[in-house]
Amino acid sequence: MLAEKLLLHVFVILAPILVYTSFFENRRIGQSPYFIGMMYGVSAILCLTVSYYSYGLYWDLRYVPLVLSFLYGGPIAGGITFLSIIGARTFMAADSLLFGYISATLAASIPFFYVKRFWKHQGKRRILTAIWLGIWPSFIMLSILISWLYFSDNPIYDIKELIIYVLLFGLIQIIAIGFASMLHEAVIERRLMKKEMQRAEKLNTLGELAASIAHEVRNPLTVVKGFLQLMKSQEKEKDDNYQYLSLVLSELARAEAIINDYLNFAKPQFEKIERLELSATISDVISLMQPLAIKQGVDLDSDLEEEVYLHTDRNQFKQALVNVIKNAVEATDHGGRIHVSLKAAGQDARITIKDNGKGMTKEQLSRIGTLFYTTKDKGTGLGTMVSLRIIEAMEGRITYRSELGKGTEVRIALPLVRQLKKDFESKEKIM
Ligand code: ADP
Ligand code: MG
Repeated sequence: MLAEKLLLHVFVILAPILVYTSFFENRRIGQSPYFIGMMYGVSAILCLTVSYYSYGLYWDLRYVPLVLSFLYGGPIAGGITFLSIIGARTFMAADSLLFGYISATLAASIPFFYVKRFWKHQGKRRILTAIWLGIWPSFIMLSILISWLYFSDNPIYDIKELIIYVLLFGLIQIIAIGFASMLHEAVIERRLMKKEMQRAEKLNTLGELAASIAHEVRNPLTVVKGFLQLMKSQEKEKDDNYQYLSLVLSELARAEAIINDYLNFAKPQFEKIERLELSATISDVISLMQPLAIKQGVDLDSDLEEEVYLHTDRNQFKQALVNVIKNAVEATDHGGRIHVSLKAAGQDARITIKDNGKGMTKEQLSRIGTLFYTTKDKGTGLGTMVSLRIIEAMEGRITYRSELGKGTEVRIALPLVRQLKKDFESKEKIM
């Protein structure tokens, strides 16, 4: 039966990925296109050897490994699989050899040319694309077959059976490619996750190191500041050194403030709900981000309404804001401007972070806040998601508006009045 054979093919197609995940995932060879090409080559040959012959055609799923090999292994892997199919086909049967060659070349050409665009899609789109790319060669082949049967005055054939064959063939093919590419995507995701975990781990240690360094730097700073203050008190105001000392002291105070901010921020986060005066808290965040903004040549300023109070966890709130402002700074070129504003409006505290940086396309905008979505070389794709989570836990809302080339506006609305009970409930969500 056709169905049985084809189901066997499905297994043969899934086998390389299963073998890969069980034995080769952590080895170098697993990534090699030669290896992938050979695995899929073998699977294509197996498909060919147990194909089902009917209506002058070999019904089998040999082009599925071919397409998968091109898409997930690259041109070298695809080329090897292609050659395996051609080789096996030549040895196996001499009849309609030319037709076999042509259809193999056709089946190989589209994924070969499409592979670059393929990788621009995200996971789910890639699966759909793979299905579509895998289906079309058989579609063409079958059209040729049917028109050939139609125009040749062959003995009578069973049209019903043919239709069932075609439908079954299409369905099983879709299942095979769909499953196989889903497995591939899972492998890719796992690989990314591993890398990401390694980097998060490294960042974590770096963060701890930085905290201890900041701590160490603060002590000598305090000593220097003390002695300078002493010297200043002994200088007379008209002396030259007096004004230098004032300048040195104010710069030292700034360095101290930065380090203090940093240390506060880097402290391990204990959940503590307290009453925050928002303008002061936001000012803290802004002075924490100021060095980054200055380095980037961006003007970071604010317009904050005072006496707006919110019951929440200080560190969580700060972190949510830091992530958003950091993105704004990173999106803005030298000479740009970021404006942070706070206003109480009705039941909400409204915080707006507006930049005139590079902005986002609609597509980017729709993906923002999804795990690991980043457009930066060294981005983590975690920042926005963390911010969203925190604000969600505060029962607030965050909305992004963005125009490519013009800038982005992030609006955060946080309800001012909430029952305290909810604050405690939200703990778990935040953590
Ligand atoms: P990361 O900053 O590590 O890339 P995020 O989750 O913080 O991760 O941000 C995800 C992506 O959203 C960024 O890579 C960027 O492309 C986009 N983005 C976020 N904020 C802005 C902004 N203000 N302007 C332009 N793009 C932004
Ligand atoms: Mg970020």
